[in-house]
Amino acid sequence: MTGIMVLKSHDIDNPRVTPSEPLVDKFGRRHDYLRVSLTDRCNFRCLYCMPEAGVEWKERSEILTLEEIERVVALFGRLGVRKVRLTGGEPTIRKGLVDLVSRLGKIPGIEEIHLTTNGFLLADLAGPLRDAGLCGVNVSLDSLQRDRFEEITQRDALDRVLAGIDGAVASGIATKLNVVVIPGMNEDELADFVRFGARHGVQVRFIEFMPFFGNPWRPDRVMGLREIRARIEEQWRLRPLARGPHAVAQEFAVEGLPTSIGFVASMTDSFCESCNRLRITADGRFKTCLFLPTQSSLRDRMRAGADDDALARAVRADLRTKWRAHPPMDRWDRLDPLSMVEIGG
Ligand code: SAM
Ligand code: SF4
Repeated sequence: MTGIMVLKSHDIDNPRVTPSEPLVDKFGRRHDYLRVSLTDRCNFRCLYCMPEAGVEWKERSEILTLEEIERVVALFGRLGVRKVRLTGGEPTIRKGLVDLVSRLGKIPGIEEIHLTTNGFLLADLAGPLRDAGLCGVNVSLDSLQRDRFEEITQRDALDRVLAGIDGAVASGIATKLNVVVIPGMNEDELADFVRFGARHGVQVRFIEFMPFFGNPWRPDRVMGLREIRARIEEQWRLRPLARGPHAVAQEFAVEGLPTSIGFVASMTDSFCESCNRLRITADGRFKTCLFLPTQSSLRDRMRAGADDDALARAVRADLRTKWRAHPPMDRWDRLDPLSMVEIGG
């Protein structure tokens, strides 16, 4: 049993549902994890994330203010969200990040604040973020080779990112590495990443390439979990670790090395069944699934004077439309006209 709720789908519309009733969808999935994009801007230009044609950045006035973000998180805290991940774009370029982490951490109900970052600014930020109460950081790094790193991100910044990872580990923040594996891009570095994780005390998570608007995804550019795993098992024996009810990664201990690794198989072995995630884009739109178009603009509602009950009603109505699962790769359709950098990963 995976923490599935007792609330029935018809209760979602029930006027007697109190404003603090948990967020449960038609399929009984309880949502207690919110990913908040702090900006659609980024200091990198990763080829698999940023559309070739570029992105039209939003005006500052379109982006949620820090106070609006706090209000939204407080609302979701009342609706049962316990874990928040700050992402983007690149969240570390948002001014006021450290203070925001500290404020969000004090919101009733919110138990954990995490961050996903490209690591470029992390060396200096790690200590203050730890002091502000950050629980964990995922750093994205797709190559350990300087030239290749630059090709992928369009920035000659590998050393800065490595310093960011070291800074995060030294600060004591639980640190994981996100590696998007794409054939012809970095699939020859899998073993290097496993060794890197062991040396640096970080868990490496290998992620399947996902389709978003404007990115160069094709089914044959997905290196599936099975193949990645088989490659790693040519060198090490992997022992499966217990999986939490909402874990996206399948985790394994690596025999002979002081590390574990994870596989995030969104494409070939989707974890939709146990999905507990919701998203807010940088401009305050609510998303019930990474792959579905955005729904209510909480920003517009807030700016029009909506109270929290009205916001909660909009959120619950949107959640009713969440699908059971995204389609398999061979029937894929990009439904959301937003790129990954705009959505917030
Ligand atoms: N800029 C931050 C970073 O890179 O970590 C946060 C935002 S980024 C969009 C969040 C995560 O999404 C990163 O780990 C990135 O590698 C991943 N990502 C971006 N595009 C992706 C894609 N098409 N498929 C799979 N993962 C992707
Ligand atoms: Fe790369 Fe993250 Fe920026 Fe996308 S948002 S371009 S993954 S650093």
